[in-house]
Amino acid sequence: MLMDRLTGFERQKQEAETQLVNAQGRECYAALRNIESADRLIAELRNRERLIDFLASEPHWLPGYAFPRDVVKLLVRQQNRSESLRLERDLEYGIAEYAPGAEVIANGWTLVSGAIDLQNRELEVRFYRVCSGCNRVERANQATDIPRQCPTCGTLPTGQRARTMKYIVPRGFTTLIDDPIEDVRLYRLKPPPNSEVFLVEGAEPERFQPHPNFPGITLGYRPDGQLFRANSGPKGGHFSICRICGHAKRTSGAHKKPWGPHCNGGRITADLVCEFRTDTLQIRFDGLRPAPPAVNDRSFWLSLQTAFIAAVADTLVIPRRDLDGTYRSQGEGSSAGELVIYDRVPGGAGYVARIRQELPRILQRTLVRVRNCPNPSCVLAGSCYACLRTYGNQFSWDEFRRDRIADWLESVLGRSATAGN
Ligand SMILES: [Zn+2]
Ligand SMILES: [Zn+2]
Ligand SMILES: [Zn+2]
Repeated sequence: MLMDRLTGFERQKQEAETQLVNAQGRECYAALRNIESADRLIAELRNRERLIDFLASEPHWLPGYAFPRDVVKLLVRQQNRSESLRLERDLEYGIAEYAPGAEVIANGWTLVSGAIDLQNRELEVRFYRVCSGCNRVERANQATDIPRQCPTCGTLPTGQRARTMKYIVPRGFTTLIDDPIEDVRLYRLKPPPNSEVFLVEGAEPERFQPHPNFPGITLGYRPDGQLFRANSGPKGGHFSICRICGHAKRTSGAHKKPWGPHCNGGRITADLVCEFRTDTLQIRFDGLRPAPPAVNDRSFWLSLQTAFIAAVADTLVIPRRDLDGTYRSQGEGSSAGELVIYDRVPGGAGYVARIRQELPRILQRTLVRVRNCPNPSCVLAGSCYACLRTYGNQFSWDEFRRDRIADWLESVLGRSATAGN
């Protein structure tokens, strides 16, 4: 992996050297700059390699369990800053925060991600499609391998991701060497990423167990559940990515490679995806009366998921972003839904076990959150920043209705539950 990247930078340097041979005037300057940039990245990578070798020879430095999951880097190619910026993120955040077009603040500067860092490998393209009826995702190596009808609920998929789309799992991101680095402006205009998460591998059916002191609720825990997060770009407009160099900034006509030279590569339209494993908990409410509505009631399930996560964070006193959730149908032919909660802390923080323990209190807090929003102008048939909305869930704001969750939880928990906190 490290070798691949090293070879990549060396090739980029050779390209720049070839560029220099035929260059004149300003182009000559640009070629020299490209060479220097590649040299700097090679040196940084070699330093890092030495550090890793050193750490590996000192076993007490390496507590294996603490290793983060897939980490991606935003490579900074511009050379007019002496500090070397170390911009790294967990891939789940990286596909949004380092996505081409995203602005990244570091050391008081605004950097713009402009491309996928292919790291000297070919762009690997796969396909996916989401059924909003049951919130399940199909993946395949060929578009034709994805059946027209949803194999889980049997309907023709509708909704935002109902069209079969190409996707890539990025190894990293990079700035474009020609982009200026600007000082931080007071206001950033960054459209939020349209990103959604789906559970693709959960607990086996026989693993589900009734909650010990909440009759009617069953739970399925899996320490290595698999999730699939897709980012479709600002406003769901997808990314336009050069197959040859990874360039993904919206430009018309020819473009330059992130490391400088001209590129004639064709583009594909694709989404950015992260597939990862972590602690997952599936919660089923089938035994409660009344039972929750069917899984195709998107407004209900999205509102429940959002209110529940917020209530977990309140109850366990943890940051809201350490956990996230989604929902889906329980299985083939079933129209019943299940709530899915997962741990976002690399290596897992053990929250899932605590959710199981504290479930009755968490559900009460969920009810209080949707019933009693502190904002007097927030309508029951909607939501606001004080109850359900966050910057990250902007694409669901229109579907949030706190009254539906409040009414259901009230009949399940009893009206007196709203009084307690
Ligand atoms: Zn379906
Ligand atoms: Zn290109
Ligand atoms: Zn509100």
